[in-house]
Amino acid sequence: MAQKRDYYDVLGVARSASQDEIKTAYRNLAKQLHPDKNPDDPEAEERFKEATEAYNVLYDVEKRKRYDRFGHAGFGSGGGSDPGFERMDFRSVGDMLEGLMGEVFGQGATRRARQGHDLEVELAVSFEEAALGAEKTLSVERLRDCTTCEGTGAAPGTRVERCAACAGTGEIRFQRGFFSASRPCSSCGGTGKKIESPCPTCKGRTAVPASEEVLVRIPPGVEHGAVRSLRGGGERGRNGGPPGDLHVRIVVKEHPLFSREGADVKVTVPISFPEAVLGTQCDVPTLEGKVKMKIPPGTQSGKVFRLRGKGIEVLGGAGKGDQLVTILVEVPQEITKKQRKLIEELAAEFGEEVHPQQKSFFEKLRGLFE
Ligand SMILES: [Zn+2]
Ligand SMILES: [Zn+2]
Repeated sequence: MAQKRDYYDVLGVARSASQDEIKTAYRNLAKQLHPDKNPDDPEAEERFKEATEAYNVLYDVEKRKRYDRFGHAGFGSGGGSDPGFERMDFRSVGDMLEGLMGEVFGQGATRRARQGHDLEVELAVSFEEAALGAEKTLSVERLRDCTTCEGTGAAPGTRVERCAACAGTGEIRFQRGFFSASRPCSSCGGTGKKIESPCPTCKGRTAVPASEEVLVRIPPGVEHGAVRSLRGGGERGRNGGPPGDLHVRIVVKEHPLFSREGADVKVTVPISFPEAVLGTQCDVPTLEGKVKMKIPPGTQSGKVFRLRGKGIEVLGGAGKGDQLVTILVEVPQEITKKQRKLIEELAAEFGEEVHPQQKSFFEKLRGLFE
């Protein structure tokens, strides 16, 4: 993960900035970077998310104190489901902005149903699994409703009370000029609820991280970096909202022999100089096991043989690719005295004889400079 920028730098305000200055700075950034104004601009989106996250922390007096003391470390690793800090709900960035404008225009948006976070995980598969398809189980850590308190956050036998500060509305209304404005209630964190005896299991957070096995079907022919999305496989929704989605990014591990080009499988087979001259039969690995391949006499290094239909299934079932076998004629690097003598004899035997490819090369070379 990239180094997180300092929240004050992100918003472009001094560490001594007032809450109002922080809000103004965020509003200006949000207007400039809003996804609706910058469609298909991932950089603007990233900066927007970054600014929203910074605002979310710095505009909250408690979170700001924590950030000033501990920096980003005060909020866990950020990536995992650290129950100590409610992660930024990126899906609700729009809501966030609306809430922000709502503060000025007097429409609170703190307790609406919100879809859960999407989760993104990586799944490593072998070359063969990607080529032939597979079913894999994946362990995913998600927040689940706490079973001890059934998701209320209150210790069993106790009740969730209405927050007295905001009378259960989750927001504090006040007058600003001509407008009636509101802000999230800091006493209850905008939930409208007060828990006197927090549930011992979830510490009043209503959810606990739980690891679950998820079955992921890998279709034959899937490419490295492809994303399989499982609807509803993400984090639980809030206030009755639907769960987020789970995005599984496929990471295809390198194979010691095979590489891939579209639906074709490529493999390089080394043979010796005598085998190249005299012809041979060799074992060639394919996705379906070893096959015998005849190498005709006089095979050149770099020659590519095509094994039709031995490649990868084209996604969607539109046939199969081929296997491309590249021949590499290996020149011996360490030879015995006797071998040297024999090769010298062979060279003498060839004498001034010029091979067809050399002949063609020399002719073209001559043509080039005349
Ligand atoms: Zn609980
Ligand atoms: Zn309250």
